[in-house]
Amino acid sequence: MTGPQPKPWIAEIHAYVPGKSAGKDGRPLVKLSANENPLGTSPKALAARAQAVVPSLYPDPDSNALRAAIGKVHGVDPARIICGTGSGELLSVAASAYAGPGDEILYVRYGFSLYDIAARRCGATPVVAPDNDYGTDVDALLAMVNEKTRLVFVANPNNPTGSFTPRAELARLHAGLPADVLLVIDQAYAEYVAPEDDDGGLALAEEHGNVLVTRTFSKGYGLAGERVGWGTAAPGVIDVLNRIRGPFNLSNSAQATALAAVEDQAFVTHSREHNAAERKRFVAAIEAMGNHGIRAVPSEANFVLLLFAGKLTGEAAYNGLAERGTITRWLPGQGLPHGLRITIGTAEQMDVIAAGLREMAEAAQ
Ligand code: PMP
Repeated sequence: MTGPQPKPWIAEIHAYVPGKSAGKDGRPLVKLSANENPLGTSPKALAARAQAVVPSLYPDPDSNALRAAIGKVHGVDPARIICGTGSGELLSVAASAYAGPGDEILYVRYGFSLYDIAARRCGATPVVAPDNDYGTDVDALLAMVNEKTRLVFVANPNNPTGSFTPRAELARLHAGLPADVLLVIDQAYAEYVAPEDDDGGLALAEEHGNVLVTRTFSKGYGLAGERVGWGTAAPGVIDVLNRIRGPFNLSNSAQATALAAVEDQAFVTHSREHNAAERKRFVAAIEAMGNHGIRAVPSEANFVLLLFAGKLTGEAAYNGLAERGTITRWLPGQGLPHGLRITIGTAEQMDVIAAGLREMAEAAQ
């Protein structure tokens, strides 16, 4: 064969599959497939965005004003903060910086699909530990650490399961890792976690040299389209990541919009409270359906993973909901052909989903 050939480890990668936004016939559907914020974006952030655009000039390469604003809100020294083109960039950059061919990158089964890509892209071997009823099993992870392990990814809450690893468990995971293994705590959904359930990730990153916490503006801030993430770790780790991230990785618009968004914590609180109330109501509606073999995995995130063990299958539920106008996320590619991940939307959207599921489950009996 002629032409350039990718490195063998790149050839093995399956491209990231995003949540779809249209049905089979291309019809636009209500999109509850990508964990976006149904309340949109802070009006203050939108106003800042409208004024921000200076397309002829490069943006601040170090996102200084944004890092200062994030640091102020979270009590983190801006020198310990890095911004990324979404948190996805930071996850990939962290893997490339600390692992390569012959090394292992560890995470739990049903972990976020980008971990596999991030590991393979740098030539490292992805290693998957067994889950604990769809949650993170700290003992299983620790049992798989060996001298080749360079990095451990833990999403908290996890996507696609929504499961949450409490503070003491996360601390136990960290305490069990060698100091030269980087623990990446991916808090993409942290804005949705009740403040009293704080997993202590930021404190671990503050106190130890081998912890990177990543966060995003894509979910709780409703800024998925602006592509803004941030991370915090010891200055040595931040320095390494800065060397290989994209040089002007956040546009002018992204920096200005995210800055105004982080200063509007009232919007984030409102989003979290809306989500908690609707998630609770939706799970209660599923439980009230009775014995149809449908189970909701306990979630601390802005989505719920439903598991179908009865006559109504995950695939049929996915197709039936799409026919009723809503696109959700069926997950056969992630080992969950029996699982449907549903983003928590507005009250009306959740009523449509719950009614549709009930109708289909009853018809399948
Ligand atoms: N981590 C997790 C667990 C996610 O679910 C996502 C988005 N699906 C990301 C990271 C990356 O999000 P972004 O690049 O938009 O910050």
